[in-house]
Amino acid sequence: MSDPASFSQLASAAPQPGEVLLTDAQVVNVETATSAPGAVLVRDGAIAAVGTRDEVLAVADGAAEISLGGAYLAPGLMNMHTHFSLALPGDYGKQIAALEDAGLALYMADGARRTLHAGVTTVRCVAERRHADFALRKAIQRGEVLGPDIYTAGQGLVCTGGHGHEGDDTLECDGADGFRRGVRTQIKAGADLIKVMISGGIAGEHEGIATPQLSQDEMAAVIETAHAWGRKVTAHAGPASVIARAVELGLDGVEHGYELTPEVARAMASHGTALVPTLVVTRCGEFFDQLGVPTWMQQRSLEAGPRHLESFRMAIEAGVEILIGSDMPPFWFYEGTTAIVREMEHVSENGLGPAATLRAGTLATAEWLRVDDRVGSIAVGKQADLIAMDADPLADTSALRGISWVMKSGKTVRDDRLTVAGATR
Ligand SMILES: [Zn+2]
Repeated sequence: MSDPASFSQLASAAPQPGEVLLTDAQVVNVETATSAPGAVLVRDGAIAAVGTRDEVLAVADGAAEISLGGAYLAPGLMNMHTHFSLALPGDYGKQIAALEDAGLALYMADGARRTLHAGVTTVRCVAERRHADFALRKAIQRGEVLGPDIYTAGQGLVCTGGHGHEGDDTLECDGADGFRRGVRTQIKAGADLIKVMISGGIAGEHEGIATPQLSQDEMAAVIETAHAWGRKVTAHAGPASVIARAVELGLDGVEHGYELTPEVARAMASHGTALVPTLVVTRCGEFFDQLGVPTWMQQRSLEAGPRHLESFRMAIEAGVEILIGSDMPPFWFYEGTTAIVREMEHVSENGLGPAATLRAGTLATAEWLRVDDRVGSIAVGKQADLIAMDADPLADTSALRGISWVMKSGKTVRDDRLTVAGATR
């Protein structure tokens, strides 16, 4: 019989016991948007001290030292909009949609590991297939699978024939009672939040991006029920008129927001409704080609691009909280980097700037999820979820292309320097 305590110590996602001293780092503070040379002491998976090497050494107790060689040390990235089981229209998507339960779980576990290696230490899943996300989250927590912390909505709620109804990552509901039941079904399964599709989208051939899909009483039922259970609600939404009504009802987040107006952006800002713009989804034609995404969807995606960008700029102008989400799995690789980094580059270049973009992909996301006491910045008491890279991400978002080291809960899960030195892991 193996001892459960020692098993959890060996397990990949369990906090690493003991002390690690990270030295020769340029420590990035996402709150003040500054960095300073220094060191970080990690004890039992959490950050125990931050300061100069001498200050940190004074409180260390036999820590193993890892020199970061002057690299910038930042909090692990947090991705607010992803789907590990995403199946877009086209050949690749068909293969994913056809996976049997066991195959789906293994596919998602592989995605979770790649996500962590890409520097993403927390994700928010906003519609996953057959509740496999709950099994994945448990397997990661038990240490059987390497992956990020997962906060998940379970299945997305849609009206009959609504956006995404084709897949088993959504649940069709109708009428206020039907949507109340939908919310309760996801919470019963373990959902941390609720995702609802209130308008059409790019990936549905039968609908327009601007098609309203829920009645007022259905939207109200979702938001009221979720809030009563202490869960936030985020909505897949395109057109301003639909978003305006949901914001008035207390919606907590808007995904995509393809067609905002200045008035609706101001309403979002004043109600504290966040925007996850997912700019990548309307500007990745070449990548969609590789996935075999059909022409009609590519055309619709690229045609929506300019208005999507205009909408994003209105949100910044109005002071809406912007959060980072890649929509596609964060590690999907194209245009020389990962989807998460490409999304952060788009957000940064189109108005937010590198420092605010880094905050949007770390601490601001932690705040929306109400887990900023545990993750989101390099501060004493927080989980040691950290990434390192050679260049300064506060000066240039593309520095994140150079992520070469990742730590999850005190355990180094990626270290490219080992490969460079020819050593084995
Ligand atoms: Zn999505």
